[in-house]
Amino acid sequence: MTEKIKITPFQSIAVVGSGQMGQGIAQVCAAAGFRVSLLDINAEQLTKAEKSIHKILDRQIEKGRLTPTDKASTLHNLTFAQNLTSPDVDLLIEAVTENLSLKTAIMKQYDEYLKPEAILASNTSSISITQLAAVTKRPAQVIGMHFMNPVPVMPLVEVIRGLMTSNETFKLVEIAIEHIGKTMVTSQDYPGFIVNRILMPMINEAIFTLQEGIASAEDIDTAMRLGTNQPMGPLALADLIGLDTCLSIMQVLHSGFADSKYRPCPLLVNYVNAGWLGRKVGRGFFEYE
Ligand code: NAD
Repeated sequence: MTEKIKITPFQSIAVVGSGQMGQGIAQVCAAAGFRVSLLDINAEQLTKAEKSIHKILDRQIEKGRLTPTDKASTLHNLTFAQNLTSPDVDLLIEAVTENLSLKTAIMKQYDEYLKPEAILASNTSSISITQLAAVTKRPAQVIGMHFMNPVPVMPLVEVIRGLMTSNETFKLVEIAIEHIGKTMVTSQDYPGFIVNRILMPMINEAIFTLQEGIASAEDIDTAMRLGTNQPMGPLALADLIGLDTCLSIMQVLHSGFADSKYRPCPLLVNYVNAGWLGRKVGRGFFEYE
């Protein structure tokens, strides 16, 4: 692992937000040999993240996909903390809740704290990278790195170039993604980028189909799984993504394009208001243990 690291421009990575995405990003980066600090404002969530990473690595060992030595070196590269203790980080990837004011606050905070060469990346699903970059003093070093869920399983990273992202930042991030072993696609900075521009309206339409009583949640998902060869139905996928995240993405598409075709389904809004956010809380369109 130390050998691999020599060919990458980055040594140390900080991941902010230890929810489902932050955990996965931290795990794959640590497995690739980077020194990773996984940060969260919530200490309880950090403990949960640590346990969950252990569990995922153990499951991979049981399945014969990982050796105990690989597990040990991944964990060796990972630290869990509420705050950074040094500004010496090469790449920061923020994966906090999908909320513009929160993400701009995080960008400002780390722009002020980190060394001048550090790159600031956002895992946002839909928020403008140009807008996040504009609140920093290093807009050329701000970029979107949109990992897919679950990160250890999904091979794609969508890279988003803000209006001011430099070619050098783009190149360095491209090398890091290659090093992690993921496939990269590039998108210009427009709401939803590629994946969520296409995926979210489909999920939203599935929720309208449920709201209008056209079919049950089970039948909507079965229809899309068996009828269109999707591995997972759109409602189960919405539960996996998190209904709060789905709603935020629809709101960004709706306001960003000022087009009523992206209006969030009222049933989605109701579920979020009720706190039925999907798998992470045990209830969304389906119930989970
Ligand atoms: P999540 O709700 O599971 O986790 C968000 C985490 O951010 C929480 O642990 C929370 O404590 C932490 N947080 C909030 N404020 C913070 C702060 N000020 N400092 C540090 N940590 C803070 O959300 P998630 O599903 O992991 O999504 C995170 C980001 O990834 C969002 O931008 C989302 O759009 C994006 N994303 C999500 C998916 C998905 O399928 N869920 C896929 C791709 C990208």
